[in-house]
Amino acid sequence: MPTNPPAVTSDATDSQEHPPLGRLEVVCGPMFAGKSTELIRRLVQASEAGLEVLGVKPALDDRYHPTAIATHTQMTFEGVTVTDASELTDLQADVIGLDEAHFFDHGLREAIGVLLARGTRVVIAGLDRTSFNEPFHEMGALLVEADEVTKLEGVCSICGRRAVHTVRLIEADEDIIVGGEGWFANRCRAHLRTAPVYLGQKA
Ligand SMILES: [Zn+2]
Repeated sequence: MPTNPPAVTSDATDSQEHPPLGRLEVVCGPMFAGKSTELIRRLVQASEAGLEVLGVKPALDDRYHPTAIATHTQMTFEGVTVTDASELTDLQADVIGLDEAHFFDHGLREAIGVLLARGTRVVIAGLDRTSFNEPFHEMGALLVEADEVTKLEGVCSICGRRAVHTVRLIEADEDIIVGGEGWFANRCRAHLRTAPVYLGQKA
């Protein structure tokens, strides 16, 4: 004989019944596609909602501002810098926004896992692929891990159509080179290998 399920009592709240629920949002795409702008928009919105919000970026990236998350169009959100991904686990906030997430070559996925387990909402922005068209460090794994992925598009510097690739114009083989306009260009699929472009030693 079927029995009724136990009644849900009013004190059976999420926090008592389940561990905290973190959330990972990834904003990716090529350079100059508005990733930092979108990250800042989400952080401002969370802040306006009364949540404790912390902006973070790698110490390596001081192109537009020494500590704040900043866009090449001068929009900023005050924040802190970290030199190693593991330092992220020292930070406490309801929402943590990390810019230039692809800069970290190891430990990012693990650190974000710790934050998510605490119930933190983590929003990261970064390039999903290198200018040699390969997954950028741990970004590929984080795209898979994410609750929500937003992939922005740029504009092809040759034809003006939508572009999801960033190529490098200067001869350098490191994954990370901190540069801006003039060093990189966005390209559509059709113009990925059209000169001027540096395809790397592997090409
Ligand atoms: Zn094109």
